[in-house]
Amino acid sequence: MKPIHLIPLGNGRIEPGLDVLEQLAARLARTFRTPCRIRPEVFDPSFALDQNRQQYHSTAILQRLERASDPDARILGVTAHDLYVPVLTFVFGEAQLDGNCAVVSTARLMEEFYGLPPNPTLMRERLTKEAAHELGHTFGLRHCVDWRCVMSSSHGVELLDVKSADFCLDCRRQCGTV
Ligand SMILES: [Zn+2]
Ligand SMILES: [Zn+2]
Repeated sequence: MKPIHLIPLGNGRIEPGLDVLEQLAARLARTFRTPCRIRPEVFDPSFALDQNRQQYHSTAILQRLERASDPDARILGVTAHDLYVPVLTFVFGEAQLDGNCAVVSTARLMEEFYGLPPNPTLMRERLTKEAAHELGHTFGLRHCVDWRCVMSSSHGVELLDVKSADFCLDCRRQCGTV
């Protein structure tokens, strides 16, 4: 199994914080049973900003990540900026199906986004699930009908919160982690 490289995407500084990324890397390493490290460079996603929407186009980010990527590693970009694809108002993340690159955003994983008090633990749990989900797509996994499985579809935090951070047995077999 290829190692996973996390690439922080931001304007010169690491957002979400380095401690968030370190915890995410440790969790992903356990889930996928492969080394996971944080790349030292911060990748600037400003080319993907849509001025009208004030959101970043995730597909454009994936294309750029692919060019910067190392074919011997799976790449996960992590950003605090809000992401979109043109047909949707937002996405938590996007991945290349059976590809090498994925991207996730913490913008809508934070309770503050919904006018609620901050809950950093909940944000980290959501980030772990969303990152595992998008990386699952890079293994060729599609959405799973088992609502507990991390590959179940979840276009809202309520759905992210009910599913687990784990793959069901079928999905694990497809990822090669059993
Ligand atoms: Zn998905
Ligand atoms: Zn599944």
